Amino acid sequence: MSSLNEGNRRLAHRVAQAKYISANKERVRTNTATWREANRLRIRKRQQEWRENNPDKTRAIAFRWSHSTRGKTVNSRAKVKRRGLLAVARCDFTGEQWEAMKRRAGGRCYYCHRRLPLEMDHVIPLVEGGNHTESNIVPACRSCNASKGKKLVLLC
Ligand SMILES: [Zn+2]
Repeated sequence: MSSLNEGNRRLAHRVAQAKYISANKERVRTNTATWREANRLRIRKRQQEWRENNPDKTRAIAFRWSHSTRGKTVNSRAKVKRRGLLAVARCDFTGEQWEAMKRRAGGRCYYCHRRLPLEMDHVIPLVEGGNHTESNIVPACRSCNASKGKKLVLLC
């Protein structure tokens, strides 16, 4: 068989496949899910091998993912989970409250009174049960934001 015929045959197969998939969406979805479930280890092993053989591509993919909106959310949730931390119970601090708070402080750090970019500092750290509410937040510069090691990603 010539390579042109071979190419045509493959193309025809792809077209037929695409038609079948669009005509049988539900079924294909279920079958795929079942197959994936049954071959979880095999899939994982194959992905692992691919990653080992393609370190540059793997890094590029991870980079793109970690900089995407979805990736950031998923990764930060994973980080919270990894550290065994829980999201805070109370969380009613709004963006307007934060802007007003910074205005009242004259744009200065609550601790050192310097005019620097301000971050929310939780007086009682979130990991120690503090809340993400106005009474527990002060504006602080990065270096004064004491609870660095105890930073918690908010899920609210
Ligand atoms: Zn400061």
